[in-house]
Amino acid sequence: MAYILGNAVITDGFSTLIENGALEISEGKIIRMGKTEELKKEDVRFYDLKGRLILPGLLNPHHHLYSALATGLAPVGPTENFQQILENLWWHLDQSLDKKTSHYSALHGLLQSIKFGVTTVFDHHASMNAVRKSLDFLEFAFLEANLKGLLCYEISNRMGKEAVKEHLEENIRFYEDHKGNPQIQGLLGLHANFTLSDESMTYIADNKPPDMPIHIHCGEDRSDFDFCVKQGTAGPVDRLQKYGLLDRNSLLAHCIHLSKKDYEWIEKINPIVISNPESNANNNVGMMNTDRISNYILGTDGMTGNVLGTLRSHFLLRNGKIDEPLKILFQRPADVIQRFFPHAGTLKEGFDADVAVTNYIPVTPISLENLFYHLIFGVQGQEMHMTIANGTILWEKGEFKTFDEGKIRHDVKEAVQKLHKVYHE
Ligand SMILES: [Zn+2]
Repeated sequence: MAYILGNAVITDGFSTLIENGALEISEGKIIRMGKTEELKKEDVRFYDLKGRLILPGLLNPHHHLYSALATGLAPVGPTENFQQILENLWWHLDQSLDKKTSHYSALHGLLQSIKFGVTTVFDHHASMNAVRKSLDFLEFAFLEANLKGLLCYEISNRMGKEAVKEHLEENIRFYEDHKGNPQIQGLLGLHANFTLSDESMTYIADNKPPDMPIHIHCGEDRSDFDFCVKQGTAGPVDRLQKYGLLDRNSLLAHCIHLSKKDYEWIEKINPIVISNPESNANNNVGMMNTDRISNYILGTDGMTGNVLGTLRSHFLLRNGKIDEPLKILFQRPADVIQRFFPHAGTLKEGFDADVAVTNYIPVTPISLENLFYHLIFGVQGQEMHMTIANGTILWEKGEFKTFDEGKIRHDVKEAVQKLHKVYHE
């Protein structure tokens, strides 16, 4: 059914800003965009947004939905350095997940994302004792939530050689099954260089489909860099290049500890670099060098579903100095989304109606030049007034519209009890 969102400030964040604007949505698509007085008509339902901001649905390009039920979970050992944080919290957690708890973890994480206007999530999954078909259970959560996503399973040596084979099979199976799918597609998930031996890298490189893009933690901690140097390469990006795994659709998360050669590969090949400032601060691993890498987007790395809040943290952690902030949030994510879903990622007639409406109502003058400051100081990473995906209103005025939140909370809590019990066994 068609409806109109009107009396709003509409912006795609890079080329268009319409005051007193309206969007008409029908059959999942944006069919018209313009001034409210021109679009409003009697026989179509009208949502008066009272001056709120309409933004494209946001992208979280690096998430770990498997971590969504970990809040308050005590590590099982010391967490003095990055390796210990992985071993005593995240790896212990992912080994405790089964398909059902993975599914509810993903669903919970996606609902938290919807509240903050996120309509596309690129997930990096691990459930080391439930690998086969695990991505299907994540996909169910995406379908229930009605969001777009790229899913992958993080291949790692840490469960042995046979496991690497199983992880790769899960990635390829899902990728092949979802080629060209308009909502969910697959990628090749790699945990990180330092958990993949030369033998594993060779095996992966020899057996993956040639055009299958990777999604990897790259140079997150100094230990990843040191490992790559020890293996005879110039660093984590150079090692990916050595095995023929790097191309312009590769998703490289973090990119903090890199060599001159690594930076040169990034400049030459221009992969998708994802900085995760809140996670980096939390793990005390350093910050990406934005003087060396200017073309990047922001992810949350499982810390939160709140992408705008992450942009605010990024801005503050860099003492209020970041270049091209709107490109980070809108233009580059639109380009990345469109490589997989050609008619999505921005507000445009004929495109998928993935939309976020802020609670914030600007009262001071607004333009593309000062939009970023309205987002940082006005919206402040608050929950959205409305989130719409593929034309379906998922969230409005603090309520989920397509879910019984009480029922889901009950099911999620049951999953939490089971998961935490296994974790502590
Ligand atoms: Zn991550």
